[in-house]
Amino acid sequence: MSNQYNRGTISATKPFIPPIDEYQLKVADIMNRGWLTNQGPCVLELEEKLKNLFNVDYLLLVTNGTIALQMALKALKIQGEVITTPYSYVATTSSLLWENCIPRFCDIDPETFNIDPSKLENLISSQTKAILATNVYGYPCEIEAIQEVADKYGLKVIYDSAHCFGTEINGKSILSFGDISTISFHATKLFHTVEGGAIVCQSKEIYDELVLLRNFGHTSPTTFGSMGINAKMNEFSAAMGLLNLNYIDDIMSRRKRQWDLYKSLLSEIGLNAASYKFDFNKAYFPLVLKSEAFLLHVLSEMEKENIHLRRYFYPSLNELSFLPIYDACPISEDISRRVICLPLYHELSEMDMRFIVQKLASLC
Ligand SMILES: *Cc1c(COP(=O)(O)O)cnc(C)c1O
Repeated sequence: MSNQYNRGTISATKPFIPPIDEYQLKVADIMNRGWLTNQGPCVLELEEKLKNLFNVDYLLLVTNGTIALQMALKALKIQGEVITTPYSYVATTSSLLWENCIPRFCDIDPETFNIDPSKLENLISSQTKAILATNVYGYPCEIEAIQEVADKYGLKVIYDSAHCFGTEINGKSILSFGDISTISFHATKLFHTVEGGAIVCQSKEIYDELVLLRNFGHTSPTTFGSMGINAKMNEFSAAMGLLNLNYIDDIMSRRKRQWDLYKSLLSEIGLNAASYKFDFNKAYFPLVLKSEAFLLHVLSEMEKENIHLRRYFYPSLNELSFLPIYDACPISEDISRRVICLPLYHELSEMDMRFIVQKLASLC
């Protein structure tokens, strides 16, 4: 490694920051208009652009990816048990609990980290109303197999596609599957609006209900058609999204190159990246280590070099302390104890990535 390599702190993730002067122009426009929120022009423009980009008919911007999940459950009137994945971010489970649903956990496929459709039927009871699956790290679930089970038992399907900006299946956006699919535009995601998210649904009826839910249930200034919430995206967030959209091709192609570099560097030192069958957005780089003890050793040694790795996802959500029912999920429990996500963000340099892998090699 050359002496000129000046390495600062390497975070697990960092938001994409567009040129400041470009954002300042957008902020000036918003402030001159004086229209700061409530379906302003930036929100409407971003909704249109995302609808075109994903080629979907019904898309709503909301304040974050968690409220998007809660609104999905509310709009589909889901009450009772929902079969979900233990291998996801905590919001997938907590949104179910906030909506008074009972999460039942279906174990995952160790290759893709996604819900294993062959294990769904074991969990179905007379109380089962829906399946809420996460497309983990941006990689699509077995959509057809899940839909088959759902159709057989008359269940709704919701996808937490928080990681999935840009993922497609046979040229179709991943967001166009299931009854509802949600995405997060949090600052650390591939595409962001600082905080934010979107809901994509398949029918006009559900869309109309979601529009009501997003804005307190207002059908007019003095009438309310539904028990709503406030989930309106503001103009400053939408402006950030509009700006970031101008850079998204660069962000996505760079992310794939970074991912492939990690994969080849790791294979040189005998560590295997997840072997995915299909191409996807490569939003995260998970690495399953040989044991939890080794993982903890790696974390602390990396910290000494100011390299921060993220235990993502940990814990396995079926092990949360505040659940009504414990469902054993040995694969998810095992993987979540041993998995880290390597630093992966737009600014991350090739030198940084080589350093991280060298350091890893020295610990193996
Ligand atoms: C980020 C994330 C969420 C939550 O989205 P927010 O926009 O942060 O509320 C939900 N599920 C998964 C899988 C996520 O990664």
